[in-house]
Amino acid sequence: MKPALLPGATLGVMGGGQLGRMFIHAAQTMGYFTAVLDPDAASPAGRVSHHHIATDYLDPQGLAQLAGLCDAITTEFENVPAPALALLADSKPVSPAASAVAIAQDRAQEKAHFVRCGVPCAPYAVIDTPEQLAAVDEALLPGILKTTRLGYDGKGQARVATRAELASAWAAMKNVPCVLEKMLPLAAECSVIVARGADGQMVHLPIQRNLHRDGILAVTEVYAENMPAAQVNSALAAAKSIASGLQYVGVLCVEFFVLQDGSLVVNEIAPRPHNSGHASLDCCDVSQFELQVRTLAGLPLVQPRQHSPALMLNLLGDLWFVRSEQSTTPPWAEVLALPGAHLHLYGKATASKGRKMGHLTLTGPTVEAVRATALQAAALLG
Ligand code: ADP
Ligand code: MG
Repeated sequence: MKPALLPGATLGVMGGGQLGRMFIHAAQTMGYFTAVLDPDAASPAGRVSHHHIATDYLDPQGLAQLAGLCDAITTEFENVPAPALALLADSKPVSPAASAVAIAQDRAQEKAHFVRCGVPCAPYAVIDTPEQLAAVDEALLPGILKTTRLGYDGKGQARVATRAELASAWAAMKNVPCVLEKMLPLAAECSVIVARGADGQMVHLPIQRNLHRDGILAVTEVYAENMPAAQVNSALAAAKSIASGLQYVGVLCVEFFVLQDGSLVVNEIAPRPHNSGHASLDCCDVSQFELQVRTLAGLPLVQPRQHSPALMLNLLGDLWFVRSEQSTTPPWAEVLALPGAHLHLYGKATASKGRKMGHLTLTGPTVEAVRATALQAAALLG
């Protein structure tokens, strides 16, 4: 085992969005120096990091500069080119590894990995060629056609009920490689965040129940009472088997569907902290970002403990336009007068509809108290 990188070392992150920003905050809190590579000169993480390299993700000079500054490097951005991570790994420790990120970036490879791990996922077919399209099993309809790469927040997807709709949806996606997934009867969605060290040790955050609106995460509830213990245990076992199967080092989010018969199927994975894990900043004694720092630095992993029930509301740019077509600031003072309200804004200069501007986590002594303040917050905001 390599010795841990102790505070005073420099940790780097590929990508400068809000996830990178919260990683930087956690690293700096623990006494690390930080570096961000992101082409946007005003990126949320770049603005708070000790160093910001504003080049393209594949720029050889930018990558060399990042490797020169840092003792270890991670990623916050799912679509960071895997070859950039592989290049960095020639000179510095990089986690998660490019090979694991490459699998998470490709829905077909991701599903093949679930099958290898023996974890159930939705029935699916890979559609790369017209022959594969023609051979699709009727039993997969109605289904959802998803591009294998670069989809997020419901983008790059089409719901199709018939073969004709499937064919025209694939044409509309310019015949890029896709997977067709059978539409499943969902009762709920949930996610689990695991952190795995280089020695194989794993810890996890409490299970999170997620509600989406228009394909974007809207609300996450983190209550122990949320799900039957058998479901929680099966989600944890599946998440751990997916992480071990990848020889994963870092923070991994595994998203699940809970079907109407109570069974769980895995939906997708994200090789980084995840929007659904943000409440851990305020309701657990170790956040997903501290776990990312610990796995990257090779520090001990201690099982996080949840100290409060919590509910997280995503704050989309739409909130800036609720009262008029003009951008106006939401009523933060009133929101912050609520007990147990924790406001996180990502430092994005301009709000636009659908843009993730921040999140609000509500904690309290009981689930009922948290739900009541969340309703008050939602009324103030919307
Ligand atoms: P994204 O990468 O955009 O998050 P997902 O594959 O997670 O894409 O799909 C977005 C949402 O669409 C899911 O959270 C779920 O609500 C719904 N969805 C996706 N696949 C299925 C499916 N096979 N059956 C039913 N609903 C689905
Ligand atoms: Mg998803």
